[in-house]
Amino acid sequence: MTALALSLEDRIADRPGDFRVLTGDRPTGPLHLGHYFGTLRNRVRLQRAGVDLFVIVADYQVLTDRDVAERLGETVDGLILDYLAVGLDPDRATIFTHSAVPALNQLLLPFLSLVSVPELQRNPTVKDEIAHSRQRAVSGLMFTYPVHQAADILFCKGNLVPVGRDQLPHVEVTRTVARRFNERYGPVFPVPEALLGVAPLLLGTDGTKMSKSRGNAIAISASADETARLIRAAKTDADRRITYDPVARPGVSGLVQLAALCLDRDLHDVAAEIGDAGAAALKRTVTDAANEFLAPMRARRAAYAREPGLIREVLRAGNARANVVAERTLGEVREAMGTRY
Ligand code: ATP
Ligand code: MG
Repeated sequence: MTALALSLEDRIADRPGDFRVLTGDRPTGPLHLGHYFGTLRNRVRLQRAGVDLFVIVADYQVLTDRDVAERLGETVDGLILDYLAVGLDPDRATIFTHSAVPALNQLLLPFLSLVSVPELQRNPTVKDEIAHSRQRAVSGLMFTYPVHQAADILFCKGNLVPVGRDQLPHVEVTRTVARRFNERYGPVFPVPEALLGVAPLLLGTDGTKMSKSRGNAIAISASADETARLIRAAKTDADRRITYDPVARPGVSGLVQLAALCLDRDLHDVAAEIGDAGAAALKRTVTDAANEFLAPMRARRAAYAREPGLIREVLRAGNARANVVAERTLGEVREAMGTRY
């Protein structure tokens, strides 16, 4: 078989050393099952396969859809604990924050010159986020953050990006930026590929995308009681029989999918088994499945939270490594653009 015929998964398994992963999250709240099945599980799998992993805490991007980043320090600490709880290993992964890596942020300026305003305005994920935004007026950061994300991915020459479906248009922006930069100034950047998880768009308890900003998410860090309460209040419908039909019945189907993922079972089997027992039985199944699935992660998270200085040390080491890599790439960009005087 030729290299071209190999699937992405085969290429990763064959030569993990050829890949560098960049992924990350906004510190807007605790990570949830949508993150886990959308991207975190892939991150851990890739790390175990020997792929070099960069994980960004996108603190500047908190300000895309709100005016003030509230309790940012506390949220960042929680995010790091979530990473450790799901199995990211800070000795192998570089975990860092936007705001601590100035050279990364400098890449935004040349990158902005490579995209047009209509291209930015057409981005479907940005449009959806504007619809859910807490701001009255749309900020410049909201329209340009996909280009900032290109800087996140390309500063470390990331060529593989494990993401949920909402991020696909952004990875496309990154590919465009990389191609255009290379055409205009010479070959500096890889053109990265997206890697979707088993559930690229997990629904929350209200039947829309599970999001940490929308109050519909089962957090990794939540208690078993909080999880039960959230699921009890989930939106279902009047049809007693449980089926999986995400278009007609997003509420019920989201719950069925959650149970199936946590139980590692087929969606339709889970729905058929509950059948006429109705929404209350479905909710009990989801609650038990989610709590059982999350219990070991929650226990690990609590243990890490008791280790003094751990979070600071993870970020200190990650930020230091990210700065070295970012300076090196910025140097190459300056060389290519003729701005190294
Ligand atoms: P916010 O509502 O604050 O934007 P979020 O829940 O969308 O939070 P992000 O930090 O924007 O989380 O996304 C981090 C990563 O998790 C991205 O790769 C995104 O695609 C993925 N992700 C987020 N929510 C889901 C979901 N419901 N299903 C699958 N993947 C998801
Ligand atoms: Mg988001």
